[in-house]
This record gives sequence, structure tokens and C-alpha cells, in this order.
Amino acid sequence: MSAQPTVEVRGLSKVFVLRGAWPWDPNREVHAIKGVDLQLFPGQVMAVVGQSGSGKTTMARIILGLEELSEGEILLEGRRWDLMEEAERHRHRVFYQYVPQDAMSALDPQQNALEHVAETLRVLGGCSRSEAHEKGIQMLHRLGLSERMQALPREMSGGEQRRVTLARVLALEPRLVVADEPTSGLDPDRRREVLRDLIGNLPPTAACMLVTHNMAAAKAWCTHAVVMLDGWVIENFDPRSEMPVHPYSKLLFDPWSAPLPGTSLATEGCPFRNDCPLVQGPLVETCRRSMPSLQPLDHHQGRVACHALARPATPAAEANPSSNAETPPGPEPIEAEPIQPPAQG
Ligand code: SF4
Repeated sequence: MSAQPTVEVRGLSKVFVLRGAWPWDPNREVHAIKGVDLQLFPGQVMAVVGQSGSGKTTMARIILGLEELSEGEILLEGRRWDLMEEAERHRHRVFYQYVPQDAMSALDPQQNALEHVAETLRVLGGCSRSEAHEKGIQMLHRLGLSERMQALPREMSGGEQRRVTLARVLALEPRLVVADEPTSGLDPDRRREVLRDLIGNLPPTAACMLVTHNMAAAKAWCTHAVVMLDGWVIENFDPRSEMPVHPYSKLLFDPWSAPLPGTSLATEGCPFRNDCPLVQGPLVETCRRSMPSLQPLDHHQGRVACHALARPATPAAEANPSSNAETPPGPEPIEAEPIQPPAQG
């Protein structure tokens, strides 16, 4: 495994300040991300899963510098990305690509599929006109769009629009791809095609962060899953070989489970405590008082933030109960492996 992560996030927090409706109304702070730490290595595909409002899209956008952070550090390939001037970031952006949720709004209504890819290669990839044209044809061919090169966005299906946005990103041979719900609004067959096209065509050493609601996609395509709840990372695990153990993650990954908590999230301590089946006895007070940090478990490679499941907290974690930081020492990050596209997603 490469010693250097493609993405390293330390203590990331984001606070949005919402202005009151009237000048005399006080401003309100919304803590969208709360002390997140994570690492993503070359060749790994990380699913970031959670309900709407859990902070996953905000975190993905902050990592690429599309939103500013409030606290913490972001390192991309060892460089402090959060401290870089925009002019310097611009030089590196070609390697760190974003796949938006809304493909249609990312496409120019006047450009056909080939023009989209060729222009990206010319402007960002530094290719000559003829080289960009040639590479664009090759990439669209790889993504099954050989017959649709002259199609305008309004003439394409939703799946084809997504594949054109993927072709633009993949043609640049990125080292990091952050895909924000790239299959939302598609039927299951199109979803499988889009994920196969994205993950199956990543450069071998590229890292990918896939923001998704789709638990089946996380299991089928990802080497890691990170579960977010109310701005916290509450669990990380390998979805190919393990089942989640946090009670909230279990609900999230079980399509037959009871409805997920919506408005009942607690504002202090563990946000899941109002619905948690594990809270009883002395845990009632513990879970009300503090949010647990991510801890390793026996017989489980991942880490989980739960007072009922984790090993006893260390003195350092007790001293700073608001931090969600992982507590060293812990298991090494899971070995990166080449992605093998599944036959069925
Ligand atoms: S910390 Fe407490 S409330 Fe939260 S999941 Fe664990 S037992 Fe349940």
C-alpha cells in the first residue's frame, strides 16, 4: 500500500451561519460537519453513506475546495489543500475531479457529447485540438457512447448525460474522483451501468469517494464505507467482507428495517439516542452527555462510535468528548486492492 494517502482529513468541521428572517432575529449556527478524520489511499473506493442532511455532500465538496472549512486540515497527496491559494489549487485541480449530482446542469446545452469531452481535454488537460478530439472519441467509445457523440444534452437520456460527465472526468486520468450521488434519479439498470462505467474505468491508482444513498452500490463497488449521521462519522468498515455493527448503520444498510429517524435526532450527546435500541441503564446518562469517539472493536476491522459497543474510552478521549477523532493506536487502514467490477451490482 502506498504510504501516502490521496486524501487525509483531520478534525474537519463546518459551521454554516444562517441569518434570521428579520434584521432583529439572531443568526443561527448549523454544525454540518463535526470533527471528522479519514484517510483514502490510492486504489481505494470509499462510499460515504447517510441520510439527507448527514453532511456527506458538504464534506465531499469541502475536500475538493468547493466549500471552505471552518476547522481542521485537508491534505491531498500530502499537500495542505485547505491552505493553498486558489491560483495554486487551480494548477492541481486537473488531478482532483468532481462528478456532480445534476449532470444536466453541468452540461452546455449547445455542445454535443464529443465537444464536451474534447473541450475539457483541451482546457484542463492541455491537449492539442486533434489530440483532444482523438482522446474524446476513445473515451466515449469506452463508455458505450460511440453512437451518441453528436448528441446534444437535451437529446440524451439521463444515463447518457451521466456518462458524458463521467467521460469528461475520466479522460483527464484523475488521481482523485469525488462523485456526489452520480446515480440519483436513475432506474436500477442505469445505476449499475453508470457505476460500472465510473469505477471500472478509473485509473488503477486513482482514489474515489462515492457519496451515495444506495447501500447496494456501497457493498458492490466500494473497498470502504463511512457512515455519517448528523455531521459525525459514526462507523467505518469494509462493506465487501463485513456487516456494519453500529445500530444506526444497521438500519441504514437493511432495506427491510424500521423507518430511519428523521426529526428525532438528539441535539446533545449521541444524536441517535432517542431511537437507539442499545440505550439502557447507565448508558442513558452516558449517551446523553457525550458523543463517543471512533474506536476499534474486537473481531471487526472497522471502527465504531458507540458507547455500548466500543472498548472503554481512553483518558484522552474522556478529556475531549466532543472530538470524533480516532484514538491511536488502532488497526492499519485496510490494504488497497484493485477494483474488480462485479458481474451484477
Ligand atoms: S452511543 Fe449510545 S445512543 Fe449512540 S448508538 Fe451507541 S448506545 Fe446508542
